[in-house]
Amino acid sequence: MQTELYIDGTFGPADDGATFPAVDPATEQEFAAVASGGASDIDRAVHAARSAFDSGVWSGLSPIVRAAFLRKIAQGIIENLDRLSRLETQDNGKPLPEAKWDIEDAAFCFEYYAEMIETEAGENSQLVDVGDSRFESAIRREPVGVVAAITPWNFPMLMAVWKLAPALAAGCTVVLKPSELCSLTCYELAKIIDAAGVPKGVFNLVTGMGYSAGAALTAHKLVDKIAFTGSVVTGEKVMQAASVGIRTVSLELGGKSPLIVFDDCQIDKAVEWIMFGIFWNKGEVCSATSRVLVHEKIYRKLIARLKAETERIVIGPGTHQGVKLGPIVSRGQYDKILAVLQRARNSGATLLTGGGRPKGLDRGYYIAPTIYTDVPYDAEIWCDEIFGPVVCLNSFETEAEAIELANDSPFGLAAAVMSDDLDLCDRVAAKLRAGIVWINCSQPTFVQAPWGGYKASGIGRELGRAGYEAYLETKQITRFEHTQDWGWYQGAEVS
Ligand code: NDP
Repeated sequence: MQTELYIDGTFGPADDGATFPAVDPATEQEFAAVASGGASDIDRAVHAARSAFDSGVWSGLSPIVRAAFLRKIAQGIIENLDRLSRLETQDNGKPLPEAKWDIEDAAFCFEYYAEMIETEAGENSQLVDVGDSRFESAIRREPVGVVAAITPWNFPMLMAVWKLAPALAAGCTVVLKPSELCSLTCYELAKIIDAAGVPKGVFNLVTGMGYSAGAALTAHKLVDKIAFTGSVVTGEKVMQAASVGIRTVSLELGGKSPLIVFDDCQIDKAVEWIMFGIFWNKGEVCSATSRVLVHEKIYRKLIARLKAETERIVIGPGTHQGVKLGPIVSRGQYDKILAVLQRARNSGATLLTGGGRPKGLDRGYYIAPTIYTDVPYDAEIWCDEIFGPVVCLNSFETEAEAIELANDSPFGLAAAVMSDDLDLCDRVAAKLRAGIVWINCSQPTFVQAPWGGYKASGIGRELGRAGYEAYLETKQITRFEHTQDWGWYQGAEVS
């Protein structure tokens, strides 16, 4: 398989013809050559997006017509569900059923934003009372312009769609730069968008390296807004780039999300949500349940049960039946996690299970599901995002202590609390400093509900109404009743 860039409605190679390999993390084999765009390709793509935006070919369409395009894209995704899911699994390593969820969610995301603009069509102007009858003031919402979307590898197609669907719904044009580690479903998405007949230049895809294509995109002066998902380190660079020319930015960054388990919980249920929270998608999830605080009364019992269940997890290629944990996305991420696990040996934490490569899997970037208990609060594994199947547990005595420990992190993406006492859950949820709080569950994500973090976990929200507004500017239009006098300066009398 050989991919191409998609610029101004045309598929073609990078200007210099460069490519890079896509590697299947289950086999360590190269299986595709991906077009590697650079600064000149980015420049072409941004100019195409700029012209398409400025011409009004997309933003000037009625929302009903734009919605019809979005629905066609959704239909194209669903028609290719099986193929896209398999490709996502091959590129990223995630179990096939999880890849299917992602692709279905991507289609639904287009449907959701289509419905939003269909419902609101014609309601784009709202009058405000400014307290002076000589004036009429109206608020209009307008698309922000050319959007640079830079996305990660953990949910390759879905993270692109979380940006693309609301941006297109709003009337923006887009240049997408996916992660070099997983670009293939975004390439397939470009084909679906092309087949849907979306006008040329409205959507552009430049696959390539972050340090070249990504950096060129964030620095491009014709970009109005940057929407980014990825690491804090790169997020800081993106924000710096956006500061030149004062461009809008939204950032969805990392996390170290806590789950607090109170002593009235059913242990089996808590164990299932912890396992799903950290082992789903191999722990390569920004909101992963990576820190667990368990009431001391049930701590030992819970960790025994968690260990037993975790050791039953089927690990293997994502395409194999019954596999719950696939390989880590790449050699680089695999080595990074192994190095963290190696350093954890001297951290003072107790390794309950896992801690390295699982036995019997000689090929592929596999890491056994790993549990640490009694982890020092200053240990790297407790403080830093690992982005792999590694969970840390500690015990607590009081509600106040649990809240303090949960909030003691530079991140604030997600948090969770489990108890049969719903008043207690509500009380704790109100005090957790996180953009998403789950009660008696962890990770369920809905396109209708806003997604994003406090503190170093980011700026802005994706999904829901907020995820659409992120692609709109607000304009006030104020009209003076010209038959009236203003009265500040009447002019000199001319004799
Ligand atoms: P990055 O943040 O570096 O990558 C995210 C995206 O940014 C990719 O498309 C990447 O391209 C691009 N990028 C990289 N450098 C630049 C740049 N200078 N300017 C513009 N774009 C750039 O994440 P990594 O893939 O390196 O993963 C490292 C860590 O980040 C993970 O271990 C995890 O902790 C965290 N992460 C968090 C995610 C989240 O959902 N919040 C998702 C992914 C990672 P390219 O891939 O080509 O480098």
